[in-house]
Amino acid sequence: SKGAALVTAVAQRLATRRKQVDETLCPFRLSQEQLLLVKSRMRAGLEAGLESEGPSAIKMLPSFVYHTPDGTERGKYLALDLGGTNFRAMLVKFRKGLQQSTRLYHKIYTVPPEIMQGTGEELFDHLAECISDFLDYMGIKKARLPAGFTFSFPCEQTALDTGSLVSWTKGYKATDCEGHNVVEMLREAIKRRNDFDLDIEAFVNDTVGTMMSCAYEDPQCGVGLIAGTGSNVCYMEERDAKTQRMCINTEWGGLGDDGSLDDIITPFDVEVNRNSVNPGKQRFEKLTSGMYLGEVVRQVLLDLTRGGLLFRGHVTEALKTPGIFETKYLSQIESDRLALLQVRCILQQLGLDSNCDDSIIVKEVCGVVSRRAAQLCGAGMAAVVDKIRENRGLDHLDITVGVDGALYKLHPHFSQILEETTRLLAPQCDVTFMPSEEGSGKGAALITAVALQKQGM
Ligand code: BGC
Ligand code: MG
Repeated sequence: SKGAALVTAVAQRLATRRKQVDETLCPFRLSQEQLLLVKSRMRAGLEAGLESEGPSAIKMLPSFVYHTPDGTERGKYLALDLGGTNFRAMLVKFRKGLQQSTRLYHKIYTVPPEIMQGTGEELFDHLAECISDFLDYMGIKKARLPAGFTFSFPCEQTALDTGSLVSWTKGYKATDCEGHNVVEMLREAIKRRNDFDLDIEAFVNDTVGTMMSCAYEDPQCGVGLIAGTGSNVCYMEERDAKTQRMCINTEWGGLGDDGSLDDIITPFDVEVNRNSVNPGKQRFEKLTSGMYLGEVVRQVLLDLTRGGLLFRGHVTEALKTPGIFETKYLSQIESDRLALLQVRCILQQLGLDSNCDDSIIVKEVCGVVSRRAAQLCGAGMAAVVDKIRENRGLDHLDITVGVDGALYKLHPHFSQILEETTRLLAPQCDVTFMPSEEGSGKGAALITAVALQKQGM
């Protein structure tokens, strides 16, 4: 009959649509073999970065931090933290009494895009202005406190308080900074203002700060992970008795910059890379961090829409807008407690008119992209902890990883998948993930405290 033929036709159309969506998403679904390959490439990249004198995909930058804190740290410090999206100024007090305690006061300042992409002088003048405001706010402008400066970008350090920027990452592009001593740039900006003074004693990557703040609570902590706007790891390197132990900022986001991830990179990732401020760089970061996941999702949605599989084939202005899928929307869309109707509401807010099938597919796209990110981080982490285990000549390693970043802390599934994957791919390690509180800044203050205690202050 006619009715039966129509039902069959509709069912066929749905099945075809399903098949086409599956085919599009297939390259995001990594097998265990592929993840093991990523683990071994990460391992090879870590080794190459440690060995080589010249440039390597994974930079393995020395931090000049030699040990984790021992709980005897005390005093008052200023901590400054330039992250992916904002600048934070903090006053941190460490006390040691019956119980060690930390007190923390802070203020958050946004860094407007025109400053991120203006001149270096403007950027550091802006930071100095924020610091000045914070010192006024706390009433400590005359104090001349020792300060630690957390800077979430790759820097070549020659001492604890000296480092030159290798290259900007994430959304930053300020001119005349690459190759320059960043601490000096901040000192000069402070001098130009001439309304307060600071002694910047320590200059640290956010991963290092995060590791240090967690190690203050848990001596087993020997790794720092950021899964946020950017993606990176540091760990305590202790290859043999001759070379001194030192924390290494891996800059693992550079894995793949030499083409080693080309077999897992999808056409959507290629597009995201091409449209980024740093094409060809930070390929692993572009698969794993908050700054890019939404863009990968958008590229997939664009493709599905152009293929007539989504939004009735209408490519809207919203869909063509870079950056509309912020991490917070991905987190909301993927939340298990959210009904499909609410997913449609979120899409509506983004200017995307969806029906019920559309919202199912959008949720699925978000799911495969963030799952892949978490699995890749897990594969990288498995390489790092296995390396530490082998460095120490152990069959079994118990270790804690200090973690920070919105993807880890706020996404509904990322942390669980990361932890499962690490466990699966590094079965000889028992890895505890410890979320840090105000970690990167507090860590810089701790490093400052350790450095001053060493100098006998
Ligand atoms: C930077 C790292 C930083 C990470 C997390 C990356 O883009 O290169 O230095 O640790 O983001 O903030
Ligand atoms: Mg940060």
